[in-house]
Amino acid sequence: MIYVSEPQIDEKEINAVIKVLKSGRLVQGDEVAMFENEFSNICEVKYAAALSNGTSALHTALEAIGIKNGDEVITTPFTFVATANAILMTGAKPIFVDIEDNTFNINPSEIEKKINKKTKAIITVDLFGQPADYKRINEIARKHDLKVIEDSAQSIGAKYFGKSTGGLADIACFSLYATKNITSVEGGVITTNNKNYASLARIFRNQGQDEKERYKYLGLGYNYRMTDLNAAIARAQLRKLNKLTRKRQKIADRYNEEIKVKGLALPFVAKGSVSAYHQYTLRVTKEFKMTRDEFKSYLGRKEIQANIYYPTSLHKFNHLKQGSSANFPVAERTSKEVISIPVHPGLSDQDVDYIVKTINKI
Ligand SMILES: *Cc1c(COP(=O)(O)O)cnc(C)c1O
Repeated sequence: MIYVSEPQIDEKEINAVIKVLKSGRLVQGDEVAMFENEFSNICEVKYAAALSNGTSALHTALEAIGIKNGDEVITTPFTFVATANAILMTGAKPIFVDIEDNTFNINPSEIEKKINKKTKAIITVDLFGQPADYKRINEIARKHDLKVIEDSAQSIGAKYFGKSTGGLADIACFSLYATKNITSVEGGVITTNNKNYASLARIFRNQGQDEKERYKYLGLGYNYRMTDLNAAIARAQLRKLNKLTRKRQKIADRYNEEIKVKGLALPFVAKGSVSAYHQYTLRVTKEFKMTRDEFKSYLGRKEIQANIYYPTSLHKFNHLKQGSSANFPVAERTSKEVISIPVHPGLSDQDVDYIVKTINKI
């Protein structure tokens, strides 16, 4: 079976873990600090704070910008549930805005309709590795005095008009989960140019303790720390980031060139954006010979795993229900049409040949 994702682990990560285990400094040691420094350089921002996972990074970012019980936070319904759950963790309400049908990202033209006095922030998601439309979104945010959080869990290594993701909004959140473009097994990071946000994040992840004085509690906090073991793995992965990203982009370029089947729409990348291709997502239209689900089974029979990200728009779930007049036709339609095929850097040229051939045969 050719899988949709495959962590790229070799002796470098294994040796890094052994080194930390032997050092005796398993937590709150140098690895985390060095990782943060390296990560902030890659994102071209001043500060990075390592966290236990991408969801805790989102929760921490929302706390850092001051989101409170009763606030509203605008986001997309076409994302992994963590984006919306993190909003609920603060006591705020997720308000969904429909997506663009070509990029699958939040539609800037629909945002202002959902802004009211309770609105405090927008969480954009760089879905499948493509940055959201930050020029327009940041402009709307400035006009209405809102903060913008970038959920860049899927977009490490992507570019937006020459700038790296992680520095495109007020604060950004990454995930280093095992299936992401680089991994620390479980892990997360926030990046920002705001010193205050970075400091609040460091306090929040460590039980609300003063950064300089232990057992001095400045407010509610959580245990959202990253361990030195995870940081050591993440550092080994960071050294491979450019290579791994380029490999994903090369495979995507081949698919873009070579997949030619009536009714199968290839991914659209907006002008100014360079996707990190966390997923390579096709859209199955009515002209295609099979339904989306038949296509998925067909590929499965040919030993090619394909996954649906995401089968259901989030507003359909009880805990994320929206007002009765709210509707999200593009997200709903898209969730029935998309299918993601393997694009991870572990694929060989022969794997890519085989995938292209298998699809083009239809
Ligand atoms: C993976 C992911 C998250 C959550 O990250 P975890 O590390 O699994 O907690 C959040 N948002 C998006 C868009 C993701 O893809």
